[in-house]
Amino acid sequence: MSTPETQAPEAASQPTPPRTQSNGGGDGVILRVEDIHTYYGAIHAIKGVSLEVRDGEIVTLIGANGAGKSTTLRSINGLNPPRDGRITFKGEDITNRSAHHIVKMGISQSPEGRRLFPRMTVLENLEMGAFQRDDKANFPEDLDRVYTLFPRLAERKTQKAGTLSGGEQQMVAIGRALMARPKLLMLDEPSMGLAPIFVEKIFEIVVEINQQGTPILLVEQNALMALDVAKRGYVMETGVIALTDSAAALRQNDQVQKAYLGIA
Ligand code: ATP
Repeated sequence: MSTPETQAPEAASQPTPPRTQSNGGGDGVILRVEDIHTYYGAIHAIKGVSLEVRDGEIVTLIGANGAGKSTTLRSINGLNPPRDGRITFKGEDITNRSAHHIVKMGISQSPEGRRLFPRMTVLENLEMGAFQRDDKANFPEDLDRVYTLFPRLAERKTQKAGTLSGGEQQMVAIGRALMARPKLLMLDEPSMGLAPIFVEKIFEIVVEINQQGTPILLVEQNALMALDVAKRGYVMETGVIALTDSAAALRQNDQVQKAYLGIA
């Protein structure tokens, strides 16, 4: 697993990545979340969260169960828009845009719990990821990319997704999100419920996808792994951002070590 210290120069020395997009904002910020408040009915789940993701970055959002990480993603992807605050993507205000529009703009998510179509094959699930795209001509090329990242999926393309192992299902979920050619990939707990060997593999692939030019917003309870691959991080506690810093600094932070890294 690469450390942030080794990852940053690697990322900087990469040739122009094939799928890096202009952010439209001129300052490298591709996603900007400003002071959002999101509710479930009367429950005030997100209480003034601000964060940003810049071109080329892996940014992680860590925190305990129920801190509001998934709700932050749901606020961004249009499934649960904030009541207050503002979200801009590539310079465009998307705060109240439909989930459909937001996917079309290039934000793609691999959801917590994978949410595959269990009776459909691996290939059919991947096809669903490209469903909203207008440029279907690139479909074979994108499928190749997913199969190169996840050779296991190429071997199992005709197998029903519901019969795969947890790790393989996670690969399908990430592969499906990639089939949309995202300009920002959001991953919600990709390591959840996986055996350690698959966790390592999934994080290696997250780094590889990023190095190919896709910025990533990574929600994780596995803070150790997340801070290992991310450039920057935000620590969430009960609906607010409690702390933000470089991933390297967060790993050294006493509070983070005690609460999230299991270091006394
Ligand atoms: P987890 O890792 O368990 O998914 P999380 O950090 O993603 O945790 P959220 O799922 O965003 O946390 O939950 C934030 C808060 O919103 C919690 O208090 C949770 O109980 C509440 N919440 C989440 N979903 C709903 C819902 N559908 N209806 C009511 N409250 C909800």
